[in-house]
Amino acid sequence: MNFHLLTLFPDIIKGYADSSIAAKASESGVISFDIVNIRDYARDKHKNCDDYPFGGGAGMVMKPEPLAGALDAVQAEHVRVIYPTPAGRLFTQHYAEELSRERDIVFICGRYEGIDQRIIDTYVDDEISIGDYVISSGEIAALVIADAVYRLIEGVINAESLAEESFTPGLLEYPQYTRPRDFRGLEVPKVLLSGHHERIREWRLKKSVEKTMQNRPELLETKQVSEEVLHILNDLPHGGINNGYYKGN
Ligand code: SAM
Repeated sequence: MNFHLLTLFPDIIKGYADSSIAAKASESGVISFDIVNIRDYARDKHKNCDDYPFGGGAGMVMKPEPLAGALDAVQAEHVRVIYPTPAGRLFTQHYAEELSRERDIVFICGRYEGIDQRIIDTYVDDEISIGDYVISSGEIAALVIADAVYRLIEGVINAESLAEESFTPGLLEYPQYTRPRDFRGLEVPKVLLSGHHERIREWRLKKSVEKTMQNRPELLETKQVSEEVLHILNDLPHGGINNGYYKGN
Protein backbone atom coordinates (compact mmCIF):
# COMPACT_ATOMS: atom_id res chain seq x y z
CA MET A 1 0.00 0.00 0.00
CA ASN A 2 1.27 3.44 -0.88
CA PHE A 3 0.53 6.50 1.24
CA HIS A 4 0.89 9.83 -0.52
CA LEU A 5 0.90 12.60 2.06
CA LEU A 6 0.47 16.16 0.81
CA THR A 7 1.78 18.50 3.46
CA LEU A 8 3.27 21.89 4.26
CA PHE A 9 5.33 20.27 7.04
CA PRO A 10 7.15 17.25 5.55
CA ASP A 11 9.39 16.81 8.61
CA ILE A 12 6.44 15.77 10.79
CA ILE A 13 5.69 12.90 8.41
CA LYS A 14 9.36 11.98 7.91
CA GLY A 15 9.91 11.63 11.64
CA TYR A 16 7.04 9.18 11.85
CA ALA A 17 7.80 7.26 8.65
CA ASP A 18 11.42 6.69 9.72
CA SER A 19 10.55 5.18 13.11
CA SER A 20 9.40 1.90 14.61
CA ILE A 21 6.79 -0.26 12.85
CA ALA A 22 6.29 2.24 10.01
CA ALA A 23 9.99 2.13 9.15
CA LYS A 24 10.06 -1.68 9.30
CA ALA A 25 6.97 -1.99 7.10
CA SER A 26 8.54 0.40 4.56
CA GLU A 27 11.84 -1.50 4.57
CA SER A 28 10.04 -4.77 3.91
CA GLY A 29 8.13 -3.14 1.02
CA VAL A 30 4.63 -3.64 2.50
CA ILE A 31 3.98 0.10 2.56
CA SER A 32 5.58 3.24 1.18
CA PHE A 33 5.44 6.88 2.21
CA ASP A 34 5.45 9.38 -0.63
CA ILE A 35 5.79 12.78 1.04
CA VAL A 36 4.76 15.66 -1.21
CA ASN A 37 5.57 19.22 -0.19
CA ILE A 38 2.57 21.31 -1.23
CA ARG A 39 4.76 24.42 -1.28
CA ASP A 40 6.65 23.01 -4.27
CA TYR A 41 3.47 23.58 -6.27
CA ALA A 42 2.85 27.19 -5.21
CA ARG A 43 2.96 29.48 -8.22
CA ASP A 44 3.92 32.88 -6.87
CA LYS A 45 7.46 33.95 -6.00
CA HIS A 46 6.76 33.89 -2.22
CA LYS A 47 5.46 30.29 -2.45
CA ASN A 48 2.24 31.31 -0.71
CA CYS A 49 -0.10 28.45 0.09
CA ASP A 50 -2.78 30.22 2.14
CA ASP A 51 -4.98 33.28 1.84
CA TYR A 52 -7.82 35.13 3.61
CA PRO A 53 -11.28 33.53 3.56
CA PHE A 54 -13.84 35.10 1.25
CA GLY A 55 -16.69 36.46 3.34
CA GLY A 56 -14.36 37.39 6.19
CA GLY A 57 -13.65 35.63 9.46
CA ALA A 58 -10.63 34.53 11.43
CA GLY A 59 -7.67 32.60 10.10
CA MET A 60 -6.40 31.59 6.70
CA VAL A 61 -7.48 29.01 4.17
CA MET A 62 -5.20 26.77 2.09
CA LYS A 63 -5.26 27.93 -1.51
CA PRO A 64 -6.57 25.59 -4.22
CA GLU A 65 -3.82 25.95 -6.88
CA PRO A 66 -0.87 24.47 -4.93
CA LEU A 67 -3.10 21.64 -3.66
CA ALA A 68 -4.38 20.88 -7.17
CA GLY A 69 -0.80 20.89 -8.50
CA ALA A 70 0.33 18.48 -5.77
CA LEU A 71 -2.70 16.22 -6.31
CA ASP A 72 -2.17 16.13 -10.08
CA ALA A 73 1.46 15.15 -9.54
CA VAL A 74 0.65 12.03 -7.51
CA GLN A 75 1.86 9.02 -9.48
CA ALA A 76 -0.87 6.43 -9.05
CA GLU A 77 -3.79 5.12 -11.07
CA HIS A 78 -6.45 4.20 -8.52
CA VAL A 79 -6.15 6.56 -5.63
CA ARG A 80 -8.50 7.16 -2.74
CA VAL A 81 -8.19 10.79 -1.72
CA ILE A 82 -8.80 11.50 1.94
CA TYR A 83 -9.08 14.88 3.58
CA PRO A 84 -8.85 14.52 7.38
CA THR A 85 -11.15 17.14 8.89
CA PRO A 86 -13.24 17.52 12.05
CA ALA A 87 -16.16 18.03 9.65
CA GLY A 88 -15.80 14.50 8.25
CA ARG A 89 -17.28 11.06 8.93
CA LEU A 90 -16.03 9.58 12.19
CA PHE A 91 -13.06 7.22 11.79
CA THR A 92 -13.55 3.74 13.29
CA GLN A 93 -11.83 0.36 13.29
CA HIS A 94 -14.37 -0.78 10.68
CA TYR A 95 -13.44 2.19 8.46
CA ALA A 96 -9.74 1.31 8.90
CA GLU A 97 -10.47 -2.25 7.75
CA GLU A 98 -12.20 -0.92 4.63
CA LEU A 99 -9.27 1.39 3.79
CA SER A 100 -6.73 -1.40 4.34
CA ARG A 101 -7.94 -2.95 1.06
CA GLU A 102 -6.87 0.11 -0.99
CA ARG A 103 -3.65 0.30 -3.00
CA ASP A 104 -2.95 4.03 -2.99
CA ILE A 105 -4.26 6.48 -0.42
CA VAL A 106 -3.68 10.20 -0.74
CA PHE A 107 -3.96 12.37 2.36
CA ILE A 108 -4.37 16.13 2.12
CA CYS A 109 -2.98 17.46 5.40
CA GLY A 110 -4.89 20.59 6.28
CA ARG A 111 -3.68 23.55 8.32
CA TYR A 112 -5.11 26.90 9.44
CA GLU A 113 -8.90 26.96 8.90
CA GLY A 114 -8.67 24.12 6.40
CA ILE A 115 -8.63 23.87 2.59
CA ASP A 116 -10.60 25.57 -0.19
CA GLN A 117 -13.94 23.76 -0.67
CA ARG A 118 -13.38 23.43 -4.42
CA ILE A 119 -10.53 20.97 -3.77
CA ILE A 120 -12.91 18.88 -1.67
CA ASP A 121 -15.54 19.07 -4.42
CA THR A 122 -13.22 18.04 -7.23
CA TYR A 123 -10.67 15.66 -5.70
CA VAL A 124 -11.71 14.30 -2.30
CA ASP A 125 -13.36 10.87 -1.90
CA ASP A 126 -13.61 10.82 1.90
CA GLU A 127 -13.66 13.54 4.53
CA ILE A 128 -12.66 11.75 7.74
CA SER A 129 -12.69 12.97 11.33
CA ILE A 130 -10.46 11.26 13.90
CA GLY A 131 -12.73 12.42 16.74
CA ASP A 132 -14.99 15.16 18.01
CA TYR A 133 -12.30 17.69 18.79
CA VAL A 134 -10.10 20.06 16.77
CA ILE A 135 -6.32 19.75 16.45
CA SER A 136 -4.01 22.09 14.51
CA SER A 137 -2.34 19.55 12.30
CA GLY A 138 -3.77 17.55 9.40
CA GLU A 139 -0.45 15.67 9.43
CA ILE A 140 -1.20 14.15 12.82
CA ALA A 141 -4.75 13.27 11.79
CA ALA A 142 -3.50 11.68 8.54
CA LEU A 143 -0.90 9.65 10.44
CA VAL A 144 -3.52 8.44 12.92
CA ILE A 145 -5.58 7.12 10.01
CA ALA A 146 -2.58 5.70 8.12
CA ASP A 147 -1.31 3.95 11.26
CA ALA A 148 -4.66 2.32 11.99
CA VAL A 149 -4.84 1.17 8.35
CA TYR A 150 -1.41 -0.25 7.53
CA ARG A 151 -1.06 -2.27 10.76
CA LEU A 152 -4.02 -4.34 9.46
CA ILE A 153 -2.10 -5.37 6.34
CA GLU A 154 -0.80 -8.92 6.46
CA GLY A 155 2.81 -9.14 7.58
CA VAL A 156 3.00 -5.79 9.38
CA ILE A 157 2.20 -7.10 12.85
CA ASN A 158 1.41 -10.47 14.35
CA ALA A 159 -2.04 -11.73 13.23
CA GLU A 160 -2.79 -13.02 16.76
CA SER A 161 -2.28 -9.53 18.21
CA LEU A 162 -4.80 -8.12 15.75
CA ALA A 163 -7.42 -10.76 16.57
CA GLU A 164 -7.40 -9.89 20.29
CA GLU A 165 -7.26 -6.10 20.12
CA SER A 166 -9.88 -3.64 21.27
CA PHE A 167 -12.86 -3.41 18.87
CA THR A 168 -11.94 -6.50 16.86
CA PRO A 169 -14.32 -8.78 18.78
CA GLY A 170 -16.62 -5.82 19.62
CA LEU A 171 -15.15 -5.38 23.11
CA LEU A 172 -12.33 -3.31 24.58
CA GLU A 173 -9.15 -5.20 25.33
CA TYR A 174 -8.50 -6.89 28.69
CA PRO A 175 -5.70 -5.60 30.99
CA GLN A 176 -2.13 -6.59 30.12
CA TYR A 177 0.71 -7.35 32.53
CA THR A 178 4.43 -8.00 32.10
CA ARG A 179 7.40 -8.62 34.42
CA PRO A 180 8.01 -8.11 37.29
CA ARG A 181 5.31 -10.24 38.94
CA ASP A 182 5.29 -7.89 41.90
CA PHE A 183 5.49 -4.16 41.21
CA ARG A 184 5.34 -2.03 44.38
CA GLY A 185 3.29 -4.68 46.09
CA LEU A 186 0.84 -4.96 43.19
CA GLU A 187 0.80 -8.55 42.02
CA VAL A 188 -0.06 -9.90 38.58
CA PRO A 189 -3.41 -11.75 38.75
CA LYS A 190 -2.65 -15.39 39.64
CA VAL A 191 -4.69 -16.85 36.81
CA LEU A 192 -2.25 -15.34 34.27
CA LEU A 193 0.58 -17.31 35.84
CA SER A 194 -1.38 -20.57 35.95
CA GLY A 195 -0.61 -21.70 32.39
CA HIS A 196 -4.27 -22.81 32.17
CA HIS A 197 -5.29 -21.50 28.74
CA GLU A 198 -9.05 -21.89 29.12
CA ARG A 199 -9.13 -20.14 32.51
CA ILE A 200 -6.96 -17.35 31.14
CA ARG A 201 -9.32 -16.94 28.18
CA GLU A 202 -12.35 -16.78 30.50
CA TRP A 203 -10.66 -14.25 32.80
CA ARG A 204 -9.66 -12.04 29.86
CA LEU A 205 -13.15 -12.14 28.38
CA LYS A 206 -14.67 -11.19 31.75
CA LYS A 207 -12.21 -8.28 32.13
CA SER A 208 -12.95 -7.16 28.56
CA VAL A 209 -16.68 -7.10 29.26
CA GLU A 210 -16.16 -5.22 32.55
CA LYS A 211 -13.89 -2.67 30.89
CA THR A 212 -16.32 -2.14 28.01
CA MET A 213 -19.18 -1.67 30.47
CA GLN A 214 -17.15 0.81 32.47
CA ASN A 215 -15.67 2.91 29.64
CA ARG A 216 -17.82 2.38 26.55
CA PRO A 217 -21.16 0.74 27.49
CA GLU A 218 -22.71 1.91 24.21
CA LEU A 219 -20.50 -0.59 22.33
CA LEU A 220 -22.40 -3.41 24.01
CA GLU A 221 -25.73 -1.89 23.10
CA THR A 222 -24.98 -2.04 19.41
CA LYS A 223 -23.21 -5.41 19.23
CA GLN A 224 -24.72 -8.85 18.96
CA VAL A 225 -23.15 -10.42 22.04
CA SER A 226 -22.44 -14.12 22.54
CA GLU A 227 -24.17 -16.28 25.18
CA GLU A 228 -20.95 -16.27 27.18
CA VAL A 229 -20.79 -12.46 27.22
CA LEU A 230 -24.47 -12.34 28.15
CA HIS A 231 -23.78 -14.53 31.20
CA ILE A 232 -20.88 -12.31 32.26
CA LEU A 233 -23.10 -9.23 31.90
CA ASN A 234 -25.83 -10.79 34.00
CA ASP A 235 -23.35 -11.67 36.75
CA LEU A 236 -21.94 -8.15 37.03
CA PRO A 237 -22.85 -6.61 40.41
CA HIS A 238 -23.56 -3.06 39.21
CA GLY A 239 -24.56 -3.16 35.61
CA GLY A 240 -25.64 -5.75 33.16
CA ILE A 241 -28.95 -5.97 31.45
CA ASN A 242 -31.05 -5.23 34.51
CA ASN A 243 -29.28 -1.95 35.10
CA GLY A 244 -30.16 -0.78 31.64
CA TYR A 245 -26.66 -0.58 30.12
CA TYR A 246 -27.15 -3.45 27.77
CA LYS A 247 -30.38 -3.20 25.78
CA GLY A 248 -30.34 -6.63 24.22
CA ASN A 249 -29.63 -7.99 20.71
N1 SAM B 1 -11.61 25.26 10.84
C1 SAM B 1 -11.67 23.85 10.90
C2 SAM B 1 -13.00 23.41 11.50
O1 SAM B 1 -13.50 24.09 12.40
O2 SAM B 1 -13.51 22.36 11.11
C3 SAM B 1 -10.53 23.29 11.75
C4 SAM B 1 -9.21 23.40 11.07
S1 SAM B 1 -7.94 22.64 12.04
C5 SAM B 1 -7.41 23.95 13.03
C6 SAM B 1 -6.61 22.44 10.87
C7 SAM B 1 -6.53 21.07 10.21
O3 SAM B 1 -6.32 20.06 11.19
C8 SAM B 1 -7.76 20.63 9.47
O4 SAM B 1 -7.81 21.16 8.16
C9 SAM B 1 -7.63 19.13 9.45
O5 SAM B 1 -6.82 18.67 8.38
C10 SAM B 1 -6.93 18.85 10.77
N2 SAM B 1 -7.84 18.40 11.83
C11 SAM B 1 -8.15 19.07 12.96
N3 SAM B 1 -8.99 18.37 13.73
C12 SAM B 1 -9.23 17.20 13.09
C13 SAM B 1 -10.05 16.07 13.36
N4 SAM B 1 -10.78 15.97 14.46
N5 SAM B 1 -10.05 15.06 12.47
C14 SAM B 1 -9.32 15.14 11.34
N6 SAM B 1 -8.54 16.19 11.01
C15 SAM B 1 -8.49 17.22 11.87
